[in-house]
Amino acid sequence: MKICDVCGLPEELCVCQEIAREVQTVKIYTVRRRFGKLMTIVEGIDEQDIDIKDLTKELKARCACGGTAKKGQIELQGDHKNKVKSVLSDMGFSSDTIEIKESRKFNKRKNKRKN
Ligand SMILES: [Zn+2]
Repeated sequence: MKICDVCGLPEELCVCQEIAREVQTVKIYTVRRRFGKLMTIVEGIDEQDIDIKDLTKELKARCACGGTAKKGQIELQGDHKNKVKSVLSDMGFSSDTIEIKESRKFNKRKNKRKN
């Protein structure tokens, strides 16, 4: 049986991740990358408290897109801002602390996508 070194409880009773999820301030925004591809960036995940790899896997599955986790950021291919927010709240993140930032100034484009 594994013991959590933060709270000292057996892993299956440990609530550290749940507590952490409630207090994270997560920012979600999109950036435009090479070849004009949109990426959704999820920022503010504390890797000490949250299994970011696992979270990335879940997000990729739920958004049906590719993505990676690096340096505490999750990058997903495409614009999934709203979807990411709803997945995170499903997973126990408080939606009050999830902030969707509108994309940084882009040239006005007719195909501003909404999900
Ligand atoms: Zn714990």
